[in-house]
Formats: sequence, C-alpha cells, structure tokens
Amino acid sequence: MTPVPSGFMISEEEIRAKVRELAARINADYKGRSPLLVGILKGAFVFLADLIREMDLPVEVDFIATSSYGHSTESTGIVKIIKDLNQNITDRDVLLVEDIVDTGLTLRYLYNLLLSRNPRSLEICVLLDKKERRKVEVPVKYVGFEVPDLFLVGYGLDYAEKFRGLKYIRALSPEEVKGG
Ligand code: 5GP
Repeated sequence: MTPVPSGFMISEEEIRAKVRELAARINADYKGRSPLLVGILKGAFVFLADLIREMDLPVEVDFIATSSYGHSTESTGIVKIIKDLNQNITDRDVLLVEDIVDTGLTLRYLYNLLLSRNPRSLEICVLLDKKERRKVEVPVKYVGFEVPDLFLVGYGLDYAEKFRGLKYIRALSPEEVKGG
C-alpha cells in the first residue's frame, strides 16, 4: 500500500482526468496534422507517456534535455542543453511538453531555441504551473494545474532523483529537503 501523504497533493485520479482533458484539446487543435511532441527530460517523460496514449493523432516524439538544479530546489537561471533533438523541426508542428513551469527560464530559453529552427508552429504544454514564481513570460498554451509555490515531487518530478515513480504529485516537506 502506498502511504497517504499529508499536505498539498494532486491525486492519481485528478492527474488522469486532467491528462485526458489536455489530450482532447490537443487532438481537436491538431486535427489532420502530425505534431512532434518534444518532451523536456527528465521530468516530462511520465506526463508525455500518458499524454500520447490519450491522443488519437499520428504523433511523433523526441526529447531534449537541459541541465537540472542538481540537488538544490532553486533554479540557477543558467540553461544548458545536455541532449538536443534527434531531428530537424523545420516546417513541423512542434509541441513542447514540460512537467512544470516555475520561473519560466527553462521554457523561455527552449522556446526561443526551437523557434530559431523555423518550425511550422510551436506551442507549449505544461502539466503544472507555478504562476506566482514567474520571472520571464512564456507563451504556455496548455496548462494542467496551477499550483502553489511549493517544491513538488512525483509523476516524473524528482528531488535528488527520487520520487519520480509516485503516481500522484505532492509537496516535499521542509524536513525532507533538509534530510535529502
Ligand atoms: P524554471 O526554469 O521554470 O524555473 O524551472 C523549470 C524546471 O525546474 C522544471 O523543468 C523542473 O525540472 C524544475 N522545477 C521547478 N519547480 C519544481 C518543483 O516544484 N519540483 C521539481 N521536482 N522540479 C521543479
């Protein structure tokens, strides 16, 4: 049995319903097209895997990886590409898929980078949005949940590489951050 966490959480059922809702919107918006979904590693891989299974379009998938926070919970503002896309995105309908947008620095950087490669269209889909933390504007078209300023783990989101396999999302307690 999975222990029931206390404090802020988004349940497995809530996530499933939201992923279905987002997929339905994307299906409608991209009808007749074959979008390339670009997952931002590592955090987005669980969300992306669920999202494409709720979609009924001939999607393609690629991944891009940026440097992470390491073992800290704060963004450094420096974005480094660790793994680039495997394909050319010129004239493609590209949908960037991210687990969470916080300051916006990562997505802003990746959005500009991909835009410079002349895709036919470029949109952003995030599961979680920590709106109050935003430092730079990012044109996010699809948002799952607006979340409070807490450090969240689960459903792909980690803390020091742990917790990615949780089926729900929850806040990390201050004790866990100190002890991590
Ligand atoms: P940003 O560049 O918008 O500040 O941060 C985006 C990245 O920071 C996300 O891809 C994610 O890896 C990480 N991040 C931001 N907030 C959280 C959080 O609450 N939990 C976890 N695990 N990662 C976060």
